[in-house]
Amino acid sequence: MTTISANLQAVRARVSAAAHAAGRDAAAVGLVAVSKTWPAAAVAEAAACGQRAFGENYAQEGVQKVRELTGLGLEWHFIGPLQSNKTQLVAEHFDWVHGLEREKIAARLSAQRPAGLAPLQVCIQVNLGLEAGKSGVAPADVQALARAVAKLPGLRLRGLMCIPEATDNTELLARRFGELAALRNALNAEGYALDTLSMGMSQDFELAIACGATLVRVGSAIFGSRARSPGSAREKDRT
Ligand SMILES: *Cc1c(COP(=O)(O)O)cnc(C)c1O
Repeated sequence: MTTISANLQAVRARVSAAAHAAGRDAAAVGLVAVSKTWPAAAVAEAAACGQRAFGENYAQEGVQKVRELTGLGLEWHFIGPLQSNKTQLVAEHFDWVHGLEREKIAARLSAQRPAGLAPLQVCIQVNLGLEAGKSGVAPADVQALARAVAKLPGLRLRGLMCIPEATDNTELLARRFGELAALRNALNAEGYALDTLSMGMSQDFELAIACGATLVRVGSAIFGSRARSPGSAREKDRT
């Protein structure tokens, strides 16, 4: 068994165990394998073990893999910060965007989504700790952005996403995950039907599942450490 398939099996087992421990159905927790910085061959290896959803942070790098691996029936999640000049690439080649934080970007993605494709599935990223320099909207601004996104025909608003503070403080992390769930519930009480909480990474996905995560984004626990690769979320977003 290769390292990737062994890691993937171990992560799946941990996802199921965390779901069961929380009294949840394991099928209610999706696993996005974060393949940023890893070559298409690594993605193909995970795909051969039945992994279908993959997460990428960089538009050009991601699209290159999407193109190399067409035909495998994979689902591609764009999880990084998104600039205006990259929206077209993402709208044309990805299935999901997790880090939506600006109405202007949402409008571009909607307009650029090809007519032959299903709407782009999107999550609004929330900066729960109001951290300076961190992606995401303030909790107080979620409602306004949700209202704008819901009107865009090329997008389908599925839920909320967060990357909490880089900390080992499980109480703080649990509080943040709970806050994201509460924001989603508040929107649903207003008539939205948001089914997605994208939260939890290699270090904290079990806690996120205990707090209601429906999509966990796991990279290094599957593919190995990106220690020498530039620009990972941990280096850019979590420090
Ligand atoms: C890189 C990244 C992940 C995965 O991080 P790991 O710690 O390797 O599991 C998840 N979400 C986002 C937004 C990322 O950028």
